[in-house]
Amino acid sequence: MQLLIAANWKMYKTGEEAVSTLADLGRLLPSPPGDRQVVVFVPFTALAQAARAAGPGLALGAQNCYPAEEGAFTGEISPAMIRAAGGTWVLAGHSERRSLFRESDDFVGRKTAFALRAGLQVILCVGETLEERDSGGLRPVLERQMRGGLDGVDPAFLPSSLAVAYEPVWAIGSGRVAGREEILEAHGLIRSLLENRFGAAGRGARILYGGSVKPDNAGSVLGLDNVNGVLVGGASLRAESFSAIARAPVPGTGR
Ligand code: PEP
Repeated sequence: MQLLIAANWKMYKTGEEAVSTLADLGRLLPSPPGDRQVVVFVPFTALAQAARAAGPGLALGAQNCYPAEEGAFTGEISPAMIRAAGGTWVLAGHSERRSLFRESDDFVGRKTAFALRAGLQVILCVGETLEERDSGGLRPVLERQMRGGLDGVDPAFLPSSLAVAYEPVWAIGSGRVAGREEILEAHGLIRSLLENRFGAAGRGARILYGGSVKPDNAGSVLGLDNVNGVLVGGASLRAESFSAIARAPVPGTGR
């Protein structure tokens, strides 16, 4: 299984800035290590330029989509438009979309299933807030988000086209990476939910960790059980730090 190393550029970078960062990335990481797949989730407006500029072995994705082929959905972008612009991946259910734009589990699930059917690969993001964690809510929150987020997903798309990112909300952008035990517990739970829902295909699906991943902690996070990649926000904005994460040695694995 290839590790999936993903960059989320959020609402940063114009098309020109994206091209410039990708050029730096191409110099620092001419091609990703063979055991890794690298994808950069860029703003919609940068997607076509970024896809033309991306070096070999680098995939592009969008950070959101609307679950319809086309129609009167002012301000929205369809999976087909993402594909036409050169994107092959999309994020669904990032915590910023859940909290700032009130996206429900049900809506995230509709997007996930629709984007897969439309030929995109999807990273479904899940994770608890600090209040939910403190009140013992890790399991119910992950169960609810996974149930809603995967409702209607055809098992045929697993394992390669669907990955799940565990992103504890309190670790995103905070500089406070989740601890070893916290990651092991959440990823183990997500693995069992994937297996219950999809059987053997769920065993092969990748589970990414996201939340304050930096070059100095990426290797140890990637070495944990059931961690098959990372989703990186802040540290992905500069080619120096993202390329260091993408090639971080994983202690004790020979990777
Ligand atoms: C994210 O936004 O998905 C994320 C993980 O951000 P950061 O790496 O900055 O915590």
